[in-house]
This record gives sequence, C-alpha cells and structure tokens, in this order.
Amino acid sequence: MGNHLRNNRNDKKFFLSFLLVLISPLLFAGQSPAESQIFEKWLEGVRLEALARGIQSGTLNDVFAGIEPLNEVTELDRQQPEFRQAFWEYLNARVTPARIEQGRAYLKEYRKILNKVSKTYGVQPHFLVALWGIESDYGAIKGSYPLVAALATLAFEGRRTAFFRRQLLDLLQLIDEGHIRNDATGSWAGAMGHTQFMPETYRKHAIDFDKDGRKDLWYSLADVFASSANYLALSGWEKGKGWGREVLLPEGFDYALCDLRIKKTLSEWRKLGVQKVGNGRLPQGKTEASLVLPGGADGGPALLVYQNFHVLLEWNRSILYAVSVGHLADRLTGAPAFRQPGKNIAALTLAESMELQRLLACWGYYKGEVDGIAGTKTREAIRIFQQENLLPADGYPSLRTLEYLRVKTNQI
Ligand code: CA
Repeated sequence: MGNHLRNNRNDKKFFLSFLLVLISPLLFAGQSPAESQIFEKWLEGVRLEALARGIQSGTLNDVFAGIEPLNEVTELDRQQPEFRQAFWEYLNARVTPARIEQGRAYLKEYRKILNKVSKTYGVQPHFLVALWGIESDYGAIKGSYPLVAALATLAFEGRRTAFFRRQLLDLLQLIDEGHIRNDATGSWAGAMGHTQFMPETYRKHAIDFDKDGRKDLWYSLADVFASSANYLALSGWEKGKGWGREVLLPEGFDYALCDLRIKKTLSEWRKLGVQKVGNGRLPQGKTEASLVLPGGADGGPALLVYQNFHVLLEWNRSILYAVSVGHLADRLTGAPAFRQPGKNIAALTLAESMELQRLLACWGYYKGEVDGIAGTKTREAIRIFQQENLLPADGYPSLRTLEYLRVKTNQI
C-alpha cells in the first residue's frame, strides 16, 4: 500500500524552508525555534482532538515526548518518482525465484493456521501467503520509521494532511487500546506490520484471530493471515475462485476490448477467439471476466481476469500490483511462469508521460491534469487517439504512441 503517497509540496511550507536556507544554512540542519513552535502548537491541536476521542492523556504524553517532524519523511513525500517500472521490471522484482521457494516453504510450515483462517474467511492459503510475500517479503521488510513521528510529520505538512491526520489519530487509538506498541516502526508513509496496513485499515479490518486480546500484525501470524483474509472477504472475495488466467488473443483482435470496465462471459470471450495459452479452448460458462494488458499490446501477457482481481485492486489500485499478487499465488501452487514474454518495453519517464498528456490535450483528446500519472482519463484519451489513428488501441502509455504524437504535431 501507499505507493500513491508522493508528489507535490506544500507551497507555503516550502517557501518558509527556502527563506530559512537564505537566512542561515545552519538552521536547515534541524528545527528552527520558529518552526518548532509552529509544530508544538499544531501538536497541541492533535492532542485535544485525541482526548476528545477518549484517548488517555498518559498515552499521549508517552508517544509525544520529544517528538519532532522527520526531515527525511518530508523529503520522501516530496520526491517525484523519475522512472516508473514497466511490466516485466515490476513483476520480476516481486515474483522472484527466491520468493516463490520461500512462499512454498511457508505454505507448508503454516498449513494448519492457514487452513483454519481459510475455512473462516473463504480465502485460499496461497493468496494469503502471496500477499504476505509482496507486502513485506514475508515480514522481512516492515519499515524502520518511528510511526507516530512519521505520521505526525505527514499530517503536519505535505500534500495530504487531512488523510494523514486521520491515520495519526487512528494510530494513537490503536496504541491506546494496546494493539500496537508505543515505539512501533513502519514505512515512512505509515504502513505497518507484515501486511503493511495503514492505521485506518488496521482499525477497520485487523483481526485478533489468536484471541490474546490484541490485534497484532507484528508478532502474530494468526492475526496477520486472518486480517488479510478478512480484508479480502469484506471486499467481495469469491470463495475458492482464482484471480485470472493468461490467454492468447487472435490475430487482428480489437484491443479496445481490453478494458477492466468491459465484462463478458467466458463463452462470449471464447466466441471472440480468446484461447487459453498452450492453444486450449476456453471453457464455456457464465463466469464474467475482463481482459487486461498490464504491459500494453507488446509488453506483456494478455490476461483474462475475474471478480477476485477486482478485490485485489481494492487492496491496492495498481494493476501491476494485483497481477503480481495473483501470479505469485499461482506460482506457489506450482503454476508456470507467464508464457508470452513480450518485449521489455521501458515505462515512460515522468517528463515523457507529461509530454504525452500535453500533446493529447493539444489534439483535444485529454482534458485532465498534466501530472504525468497515467490514470483512467489518460488511458482513455490514448485509446481514442489510437483508434482514430488506426494504431493498436491498447490505451497503453508507450513511447511508440508518444513518438507518433510528436511526429503528427511537428507536421502542422
Ligand atoms: Ca492477537
């Protein structure tokens, strides 16, 4: 979680920092007295809000003792990601041979508790282990930032203060209720424990499965697996079903059909010539599915995805993320790697992505913000542009499409 917690800056805050740099470089090393006072005053407001929620003052005294904003967290929040990972880079970094092997061992080692959780929530063990592997590398990487200070920093300044203030208050409540230790650490953006839940998710979905009185996503794997399963179940997980499968598209297939919003039954896809990899025919059936090209038409496999894929997207809105979890889960139970390797097409840089949006806007295809984030609106604009220019309409922000736009623009 939390990969959308970047970008931008609070202009006022930035200007203040800029002034301080001019006055004295020494001040920038730590908190200036003025800044420190502003933070103290702000923290007092949080304390009052926490007290009003019934959080004990003793807890607040403990966790706020000597607390200061963390410069490193502010920097991380401001960073614009320069390069994005393309499909294969992303997948190969997450579904590694070592992670597959380790996951298979854990499936065996924790079979008993996994089966018990699975029976309660209807989510298969290999998905729970796959989520665990992708989120924290099976608990190896849970983050080392002091959580209260990190969330206080992001709630105090940055581009999503309201969101992080809510997270901070939820964290304080979880600490006060004894679920989380005062000195717990996590990711710089506040993701916690083996499942990297944000405090709000933790409060809503975490489960005390071993019934020791604490929802503990650091030291109880029973709680960890049950919390993941509970989250998926509440998001609409279909018991015992898979997430999707790799398919082959026939020659001349209309890529505009590769869209998560378009749902057809297996029988309908079969009629359109969609086949299983290895040339098998798709089964007949009323199961609804969508086609998705996570790496565009040339950069990865074609996937037919079901309801449980949408559930994984509830956990994290990234298609690459959902494919990685689903694929790792499959690999843990012996499924082969994807068979359509495709080329390793590099993802557009931020600058290229923004240029693509600008050019699409010039030609009247795009009306959204030029932020370099290829969301639904951008992909929709690309797709319509591709269709009108007789390009494969995969809606993928590729260099090929950008270059086509550049040439077209230079011709006028
Ligand atoms: Ca527990």
